Amino acid sequence: MSEKVRVRFAPSPTGPLHIGGLRTALFNYLFARKHGGDFLLRIEDTDQARYVEGAEQYIIDALHWCGISYDEGVGKSGAYAPYRQSERKEIYRQYAEELLRKGKAYYAFDTTEELEFLRKNCEEKGETFIYNWHNRKQLNNSLSLSEEEVNQRLNNNQEFVIRFKMPQEILQMHDIIRGEVTIDTKILDDKVLFKSDGMPTYHLANIVDDHLMKITHVIRGEEWLPSMALHVLLYRAFGWKAPLFAHLPLILKPVGNGKLSKRDGDKMGFPVFPLLWIDPETKNISRGYREDGYLPEALINFLALLGWNAGGEKEIFSKEELIQLFDLDRIHKAGARFDIEKIKWFNHYYLQQKSDDFLTEEYLKILTEKNVSVQRATAQKIVHLIKERATFVTDFWELSSFFFVAPTTFDEKTIKKQWKAESPQIITDVIAILSNLSDFSSENTEKSVKQYIADHNLGFGQVMPLIRLALVGEMKGPHIFDIVEIIGKEQTLTRLQYILQTFS
Ligand code: GLU
Repeated sequence: MSEKVRVRFAPSPTGPLHIGGLRTALFNYLFARKHGGDFLLRIEDTDQARYVEGAEQYIIDALHWCGISYDEGVGKSGAYAPYRQSERKEIYRQYAEELLRKGKAYYAFDTTEELEFLRKNCEEKGETFIYNWHNRKQLNNSLSLSEEEVNQRLNNNQEFVIRFKMPQEILQMHDIIRGEVTIDTKILDDKVLFKSDGMPTYHLANIVDDHLMKITHVIRGEEWLPSMALHVLLYRAFGWKAPLFAHLPLILKPVGNGKLSKRDGDKMGFPVFPLLWIDPETKNISRGYREDGYLPEALINFLALLGWNAGGEKEIFSKEELIQLFDLDRIHKAGARFDIEKIKWFNHYYLQQKSDDFLTEEYLKILTEKNVSVQRATAQKIVHLIKERATFVTDFWELSSFFFVAPTTFDEKTIKKQWKAESPQIITDVIAILSNLSDFSSENTEKSVKQYIADHNLGFGQVMPLIRLALVGEMKGPHIFDIVEIIGKEQTLTRLQYILQTFS
């Protein structure tokens, strides 16, 4: 690649960023970094009707949380600023006019009502109305009206749009992921490029900006594949070199058919957005990966493998490895199935990689919420013992509450199985042995209890489960004597007394 790679993420701020959009941003980012290129964030906000308050900031925050940094774009400077299309309004009109001059576009004066009428008419006949080569000559536009009449209408400030005059041909295009794509442009409509409100439509603004910002590769979701022909033809109409296109595969629902939609998260009980989102109008809350306790590393690793693979069995990749290995030719075109269990698996992995210091900080926050005060060193010890079983930091409380709250009930099934005639005597003996110890370290208490088991020809299974039940209430938790050490002598003896009283 001789030209410097320049790619962009160009979301429209119409709501929270879906994880599909986040994957598009990630792939653009990885591609730019891999090739030493530039990655831009451009906000495509020309459709004012769909503008949602707070969505732009959400996009920026989500990229930031994921560590997907951009070189130029909204909120940053750059040689091609501004990067928000609503601030580039004046730029587009001249390009629409250029197409008019070249005969590649035309003015259309048809009113919404007229078009609606035609649409209904067609519907009644079981047909769809398309504004195209077939009927454009019969409609109200600068192709059907005399020059004089057109000028008159323009001078009278009659509302108009500018439409692309879609040529009729068999168009062959190339997509990096899909290969050759052929389309008969006869089936396409004369898309509106410029609207009566003085704003360009997505199509015009998008390609004008990609051209002006020297974008070399357009990497975006499959839902934009149907627009590719129009875009390629627009580049041709302007006489500009088109960028290379790569349309990423759809992200599919975990089960069944169809693409993972914004609503699937609520239905299926997992987030489809990176961050929590509160709809500014309805105040509806959509959960986010960040607030649900996922680590950005896990989300990134997971998203990188939605549609791309490194070729081997390896699944864990740091961002640096991804940058090194990523390329567009390993992206497949078949849809990639979303699997929430997989991202949990990644989260478990990345949680284990975090330092005990980091995890202790997080744990202390949870303990404060639970009104538990504990020394940092103790919290750190507990974290070390339980983290292996945790997928999320938020699992820590569930995995460790017994360190702070003595059990008052005991798992019935286990009691039935473990509490035998000799159990009261065993507990009484263990209480006596532990009462005599002054060194209450895990090793020492373990040694003493094991000695007792050996001296009395008992089985481990007769003694250990009873102690665990007394301390935890059920058969879970880390090594029993580690618990003993942390809760200390007094608490250990109290809990043993309690179970003895409860069942004797
Ligand atoms: N504004 C479009 C979107 O919301 C950009 C599509 C493209 O990348 O060309 O996804």
